[in-house]
Amino acid sequence: MKRETYKGRTIKVVGGRGNNFGRTKVTLNGVELGSWEGNEDANLRSIRGTIDHADEVGVSNGRYNPEWYAPGTFELCTAGHAKEIGGECGHPWCVEQRAEATASTAPAEIVKDDVAVDVDYVSGDNFHVGDVVAYPDRPRARVVREAEDGKDFFGRPIKRLYCRSLDGSHEGFVDYGAGGVLPKLRRVA
Ligand SMILES: [Zn+2]
Repeated sequence: MKRETYKGRTIKVVGGRGNNFGRTKVTLNGVELGSWEGNEDANLRSIRGTIDHADEVGVSNGRYNPEWYAPGTFELCTAGHAKEIGGECGHPWCVEQRAEATASTAPAEIVKDDVAVDVDYVSGDNFHVGDVVAYPDRPRARVVREAEDGKDFFGRPIKRLYCRSLDGSHEGFVDYGAGGVLPKLRRVA
């Protein structure tokens, strides 16, 4: 077990034994993040790297859950995301809510072609086989395999969904990080 404070965040890693050897239980600012692949040192490095990235994108960016930031340096928006104290939440869901609030008062001809209108931003963990990832600027893609563990360019743990574009012309992984959200096409009755 190792415990350290890095840039104001408390990190605890507990290396697994027996059947869990090679995996490490990770706790960040008191929030359990589950059991991650790799030993204690590898996960400490990975978490420091992710914290550096969280600082780089900023607390109002919406990409990281509150536990990735130093206590006392942020506040929560009404939906529970971390944001700058007194600032606007940058989480895609909140950005969309503000956009919809604006759109509802805008002239109809401006909102009628809004591609984001039938999309919800939800946790990547809520995507299952058959769901459609719908980034406004990319071909819509259907999930063909349940999420699997992967690593990003820096070796940090991520999740990835194997998807195929609706027209069948492209397939590949859509990645998301801890607490990451993706645009999900609403089911149309
Ligand atoms: Zn928010």
